[in-house]
Amino acid sequence: MGHEHSKYGERDHGHVPYIAQKTQVGRAKAITGNKAGATKLDIKLPPKATRTEASDYEFIKSSLINLLLFSRLDRVTAQRIVSEMYMLPVLAGEILIQQGDTGDAATKLFVVRSGKFEVLERRKDVMFKVNTKERGDVFGEISLMYDCPRSATVAATTDASVWVLERDVFRHFVQASVEDEKSQVQIFLNSVPLLASLRPEEKMKLVDAFQEEVYAAGARVICEGDLGDKFYLIKEGEARVLQGDKEVNRLFRSDFFGEQALLQDEPRRATVNALTSLTCLTLDRRTFVAVLGPLQDIMKKEKSAEVVNQRMAKLRPQGSAALRRPTAEVLIKNYGGHVAATAAAAAGPAGVAAAAGAASAGSGKSRQVMCDGHLDEVLELLKGGQKMQDEHRDHSRRLVLVEGELLGEGAFSRVCKVTEESTGRVFALKRMAKSAALQCPDHVFCEQHITRNIAHPFCLRQYASFQDRYSLYMLFDLMPGGDLMDVLVAEAKVIKYPVPDKNSLRKGCLAPKMKMWQGLEESMSRFYIASIVLALEYLHDNSIAFRDLKPENVLIDAQGYVKLGDFGFAKMVETGGRTYTFCGTPGYVAPENVMGRGYNHSVDWWTLGVLMYVLLTARQPFTSPKTQDPMEVMRRIVDERWPIKYPPYMSEEATDLISKLLERKPVKRIGMLQGKARDIKQHPWFAGFDWEGLAARRIDPPRKPKESDSAKRKSELAEAHRGEPKEPPPATAQEMAEWDRMFRDF
Ligand code: ADP
Ligand code: MG
Repeated sequence: MGHEHSKYGERDHGHVPYIAQKTQVGRAKAITGNKAGATKLDIKLPPKATRTEASDYEFIKSSLINLLLFSRLDRVTAQRIVSEMYMLPVLAGEILIQQGDTGDAATKLFVVRSGKFEVLERRKDVMFKVNTKERGDVFGEISLMYDCPRSATVAATTDASVWVLERDVFRHFVQASVEDEKSQVQIFLNSVPLLASLRPEEKMKLVDAFQEEVYAAGARVICEGDLGDKFYLIKEGEARVLQGDKEVNRLFRSDFFGEQALLQDEPRRATVNALTSLTCLTLDRRTFVAVLGPLQDIMKKEKSAEVVNQRMAKLRPQGSAALRRPTAEVLIKNYGGHVAATAAAAAGPAGVAAAAGAASAGSGKSRQVMCDGHLDEVLELLKGGQKMQDEHRDHSRRLVLVEGELLGEGAFSRVCKVTEESTGRVFALKRMAKSAALQCPDHVFCEQHITRNIAHPFCLRQYASFQDRYSLYMLFDLMPGGDLMDVLVAEAKVIKYPVPDKNSLRKGCLAPKMKMWQGLEESMSRFYIASIVLALEYLHDNSIAFRDLKPENVLIDAQGYVKLGDFGFAKMVETGGRTYTFCGTPGYVAPENVMGRGYNHSVDWWTLGVLMYVLLTARQPFTSPKTQDPMEVMRRIVDERWPIKYPPYMSEEATDLISKLLERKPVKRIGMLQGKARDIKQHPWFAGFDWEGLAARRIDPPRKPKESDSAKRKSELAEAHRGEPKEPPPATAQEMAEWDRMFRDF
């Protein structure tokens, strides 16, 4: 099957299809891993594999310990994961992994058990040996996250053997351990009398705010008489409580101490020492107050009845929602007209809503595709337009769309301009091949469901969705101004900026000027970022996490206002809930997304920080021209010690806001604190900004879209698809049946 739209089948991951040689950032395609351990573990051992011997567990663990993804695992989880690994013999000369392999072949990590391997990279059709691997060496870590095509070939040079870890196994146990830990902490919290007045969702928030601290046997945890500001829960181990020299108590798993410190500075009433190695979950008052506000206030506050958010209820998936939507026929004329079109015939209807036919249109050049679907608001609009034309009344349940230029494409889809024939209204039509959508149907249904139900001036609105035999379609607002990446490419420039060095400082002379990239003016960025803040605030208030914020997904209308587009990864995540699927775009993903330990809408504030950085500097904060290796980029994202470099021309306020958004701990990130999005709106970078004016679209956009912004990209896009086969690749009856079943409710 041709998988050119599939986020899975992409061979050119990391390679940027359209790029601005002008800037350091390029268009990037989104990726997604499979769902973490949601399904039951059903790993079949390959034919030659055997179970790992228990005596090897320690060795394997010591080989894995330095990997990013293993660095934060507890002992029990690491043990469980290792004991699910299997052993695979590899003969001399055998190729274990092949450069470019994707799909199932790219879901495994290997630890060398015996023998020798060489790592080969193909460069310009010549194979280069770049490394060798022997006992204890590991490769393929990134495949535990998502289907990244193998970056090199690994072949055995002697008879050898490896231990194999499957992604599903890894993610299953990580998720299980997190769920376990969180529910434990929740139970703990329920048993702390001081916290009894917290509402359940407040406790859920606190659960995430705890940090783990490990004490060696004999170490002092708190000392009698000291002022304390930290509260402790014992996760593992045993502690002694002393008053003076006298032991007054012993504490074990799920015991807690020091909770008064959450109220105020108060001298500790006893000393606590670790008796064995002791793991505590801790929470300090500053974090508590940042997340929930002062505990005193909460205790005073009466438990108010939960305000039921009507909108949220409306947004929740409803099995029957699809049925209530008006259905009608859609006729797409000039289908695929942007590429050389030929008349062709397709088979007749197959599924419930998949009435597809084909006929040649007048010119004999364009193909018409009939679709059935849900037209929501479009029909309303048409009725208005058609009142005057009585003869068209029969056709009031038919929407005729004439396909025009290709507007853009993502990893999944193609987006074209379409004109509704009877009214002349223009829309954007997003088309997704079912064969590609099948790889992650959840995402497709979420996108459909969410875009249909949201209503915000800065979020793209869906007017209709429908399907034919091969494709799924969604009809959106047309955003003729391109996207923010187009703006960035148009605006980015090299500047010369004085940077004092040692010499100039010492001599007191002028600082030498350095060449560097600069993105948008701060005032221009401020308008865009502010619009996105409002959109994200709205989505989060409705329990939606966007999950794929980046310049390519922020679209621009004719006047220059922006809307969030591409809800392909958007997901409903209830307050306090979490989700595990690894998804997003390399370079933009948040640390909590990388680590696979569960996350929520916090990831959007992180990616807003990356986006703001990108807009201002025309570079990505964690990627550099030299470092494109996605695993290395993700290591930097997660590593607290890896410093983000801010260019000297960036204002102090902008630097401060970005660094608060790029806070690696989600509970401490601006946007996630008690004030939520308000904290961002009140940040000094927005001092004097007219938020109400923006929300009402009263303030003028700083930049009118220009034809030239996206002209080059679009012509390259059209060029890239010219001469492409018009027909969908042949599908077997079985595949078609599967599509029908899967997308019946679309
Ligand atoms: P994917 O989910 O495959 O990433 P997107 O929804 O992001 O697809 O669309 C891909 C590209 O198409 C966008 O980056 C943008 O350039 C263009 N595009 C998408 N929607 C519209 C629209 N409503 N109006 C104009 N261009 C659009
Ligand atoms: Mg996109």
